[in-house]
Parts: sequence; structure tokens; C-alpha cells
Amino acid sequence: MSDGVKNQLSKTDSKLPNLAGLGRDRLRALFTEFGEKPFHADQVLKWVHQRGITDLDVMTDISKSLREKLKTKTQITLPVVVDEFLSEDGTRKWIVEVASGSRVEMVFIPEAARGTLCISSQAGCSLDCSFCATGKQGFNSDLTVAEIVGQLWWAVKELGGFSGELERPISNVVMMGMGEPLLNFEPVMEAVNLMMEDCAYGLSKRKVTVSTSGVVPAINRMKEFTEASLAISLHAPNDELRSQIMPINKKYNIGMLLESVRGYMASLPDKRVPVIEYTMIAGVNDHRQHARELAELLKTFPCKINIIPFNPFSLSDYSRPSGSSVTNFRQILQREGYTVTVRTTRGDDIGAACGQLVGEVADQTRRSQRHKAKAASNRRVFDRADNLAVTADRL
Ligand code: SF4
Repeated sequence: MSDGVKNQLSKTDSKLPNLAGLGRDRLRALFTEFGEKPFHADQVLKWVHQRGITDLDVMTDISKSLREKLKTKTQITLPVVVDEFLSEDGTRKWIVEVASGSRVEMVFIPEAARGTLCISSQAGCSLDCSFCATGKQGFNSDLTVAEIVGQLWWAVKELGGFSGELERPISNVVMMGMGEPLLNFEPVMEAVNLMMEDCAYGLSKRKVTVSTSGVVPAINRMKEFTEASLAISLHAPNDELRSQIMPINKKYNIGMLLESVRGYMASLPDKRVPVIEYTMIAGVNDHRQHARELAELLKTFPCKINIIPFNPFSLSDYSRPSGSSVTNFRQILQREGYTVTVRTTRGDDIGAACGQLVGEVADQTRRSQRHKAKAASNRRVFDRADNLAVTADRL
């Protein structure tokens, strides 16, 4: 990337409306407020989000007088990419600096038939899930709409999507980077809608996914704002275990969570199911008994299940599960009729794998160590239950 681009994009005046962070309705309202025709909103959206242009002087289908007005009354400001890493497997990680001075990460995962961009919604996170590197640094700041959608803008630019070098390099966006998207509700809703807007990126609503740890009141509100897809970070088949590894479960338990997700899915105009994310951690939630419990829990809840073998990071005491326990877990669920995928670890060598984003902060609480001790005693109980179940299967 050129320094010219960096400098231009880092200029900011927080008091002026930022054209790069306004959805179509808000842009139309802004032009009306300026005494201009609302159709200019579509022109601006196309210049910024389809052609990657942030210089008003280049937007030649807008009259010179209007461009001059926009220069004094608005700004076009995007976050700045300050570093990038390329994995041996082709995964890319970009470090993005936002206006608060915090840094967040986004990850691009190229595959044969699609390109997925994993985007951050907050710098840090307050929810403290025990297996997550981001959670260990605490909460720093919420990202603005322009800082969220700006990650997609940068990735498209860096991948040659604006210049036409590569047609649609990004087909899928997942709000699964740093932060809990639904704790930064309005900016995230506006940003995902902008990603799906025809005059902007035009991504399919099936391919823009908000992933949440389970902020139930926000899930209940989502249907009023968007039709994006939903993924749930479940990671445990019962409340006791989930509360140990995800403190949010103490406030919104699994029953409340599944009920709210059911309501959101029912509100969508097309038939879609949520994805249940299940990070498997060795000796914590990876036992066959957990798989059976999960199958039982979800038997009346249409969904797909995505298993993510835990990706170790420094300061975490957790370990990756063995290949055989992942296979056993998957097979138990598949035998019960579930569609199950196992996420391949990508970008491990650049700290871009799931759950690894920005983890170089001391774990003051040693939560994972305490949990491991508790899990060891649980495991003995499960081992007995498992032996009984195996015996019963053979009868
Ligand atoms: S898993 Fe998500 S919600 Fe939990 S601490 Fe990490 S970023 Fe926050």
C-alpha cells in the first residue's frame, strides 16, 4: 500500500458526517438535509464501496458545486492498515488502526470456491471467554460503522477487487474477529447492511454472518434491523460447563439463547438455519458424552454444527483436542443426523487462526488453569457414563 493512501485515509474530523460509514437510508437523509437530491447517495456508495475511491474530486458524475459542498460539510475517513502478514497457506492477516488508537485484526481465508473475510467489531472484548485470546486483553473500544465496513474496503482493495484484477475476491464476511458484535449493536447492524447493499458490496445475506456469544436481548432486536445470517458460539452442551468457559451464560443461559435464535430465524423471509460454533478443547468439552448431550440439546433446533479444534496461543493452558476425539465427536453428531463441518486451522503461523487474535496480554485470572482442574474431575464422571453408553450400544 502507498503512504499517500495511508495519509489521506488517516485524516479525520470526528464532527463531520463520514460518508464511508453511512448506509443508503442515512446517506439519502443527509443529502435531503443538504437540500440536494437523495439519489446522490447511490453515486457516493458506488464510488466509495464499489470503486474504492475516497477522493471527492474523482467522483465526476457529481457536480463540482456539490463536491465542494461535501468537502466542507462531510469527510470520507477509513481506518488505516498498519501491518500485514501472509501465512504459508495463503491466509492473510491485516492489523488495522482505528480512531481510538486501538489496533484490531482482520483475517482473509482464501479457498477454492470462496474467499472469507473475518472482521472485528470491537477493540478487545469484555466477555472474557476462557478460550479466547481477545478476551484476555479486556475491552478497549467500540468500532464505528466506517471502521467495521472499512475492514472490508481495505481487504477488497488489497486483493485487487476495486481495480478489477480479481473479480469478487471476498464472497463471505463473518463478524467473528475481535469483539462481541452485538455489544456494538447499531454500528454492526449498519455495517452488515452496507455489506449487503446492492449499491455497495452487494454480498448475499446468506454470506454475511453475525457471530454472537449470546447477547439475548440484542438477538431479539436483530429482526428489526437486518436479515444477515447468524452463528452462535455455543461451545458447551449444558449450562454448567458453558458458564465455566463463557461467563455470559450466567446471564443468558442456553435455553434463553436458543429461544431468541429461533425467533430471529423465524423472522427471515427465506429458509435458513443458524450455525452452531463448537470450539473443542482437550479435556474440557471434547468427550463423547458432550457430543451426545449436544445432539440431545439440539434435536428440535434446526442448525448446522461447526466444530473448531482449539487453537493454542501463548498464555493459554488449554490444548488442542486429538484428531481421534474430533473424529469421534463429529461422527456421533452425524449419526444423529446433523450436518457437521470441522474447521481446518488456517493461518496458525501468523496468529490468525480462530480464537488467536491479539493474545499477547497476561492472563491475570488463570481462569483456564482453574477450569482445567474442574474439567479433570468432570471427565471421570463422563468416562463412566461413556462406558455405560458403549455397553448399551452393543446390546
Ligand atoms: S470469544 Fe468472542 S465474545 Fe468471547 S471473549 Fe472472545 S471475542 Fe469476546
